[in-house]
Amino acid sequence: MADIPLSPQPLSRIRIVLVSTQHPGNIGAAARAMHNMGLSNLVLVNPRHFPDEQATAMASGAQALLESAQVVQTLDEAVADCAWVVAVSARPRHLGDEPLTPWNMAARAVAMPAPNTVALVFGCERTGLTNEELERCNATTRIDANPEYSSLNLAQAVQVMVYELRKAALPEVPSVALKLGHPWYAPPSAEEMERLYEHLERVLRMTGFLNPDNPRVLMRRLRVLFNRAQPDRNELNMLRGILSSVESPKVRTKRSHKTGTRTHQFEEK
Ligand code: SAH
Repeated sequence: MADIPLSPQPLSRIRIVLVSTQHPGNIGAAARAMHNMGLSNLVLVNPRHFPDEQATAMASGAQALLESAQVVQTLDEAVADCAWVVAVSARPRHLGDEPLTPWNMAARAVAMPAPNTVALVFGCERTGLTNEELERCNATTRIDANPEYSSLNLAQAVQVMVYELRKAALPEVPSVALKLGHPWYAPPSAEEMERLYEHLERVLRMTGFLNPDNPRVLMRRLRVLFNRAQPDRNELNMLRGILSSVESPKVRTKRSHKTGTRTHQFEEK
């Protein structure tokens, strides 16, 4: 095997190995799935037809990856330099450990420190991986599927695995964290929320919506609602503005527009 370029990115250290693939279209589709997810290391063990125009057609925008695929004759050659070799197999194992879930496999694979290479080994369409091939692997991973029809198309099985690898490799950037960085979206303090509840109660007493003999239940329900919604500061200001407009309604006239008279109308930020 040629040397694998070292890279700090875990995905570049993960090799997809396709063993004895029968349909060249599957090789192309697998290459495309890899390129979509940012993997690039493809090794083909004894493919029936390769290169092939069906592989090229199915690879679509992943031609370069397909052309860079290495072709070897045995699984041993394909994984010789790998530190962790994982069999991707639909079949339950009679020997060995329980198969890993794809996401547990992916977490371990991306955590493998550089310069180690991880290989994911896929079997041939008709027969899957042989026992001899399974014995070359450190672990097995399986995509849970309908027990009455659990065998996925080869390239689709590759897609599931490379997607899991990408998810595991990308740092999670929750959108809520991005929002929280902006002052408008800062979460209001507990005290600010208490002021909202006081304001709400005052207005609801004034409008008669709140029964003065039993104010507790309604206020408690409203707290449950707002605790779940977790309004940000901008939304809190909007709610306070609405309440103020109920307390002292101001009719927006053309004149008030022109003279810039303050109203409670919400200005979208
Ligand atoms: N008839 C074969 C299925 C081969 S499908 C068998 O009984 O094993 C071709 C390859 O796709 C498999 O070798 C495996 O690598 C992958 N594959 C398909 N379905 C899978 C699943 N549910 N879980 C894990 N790998 C799967």
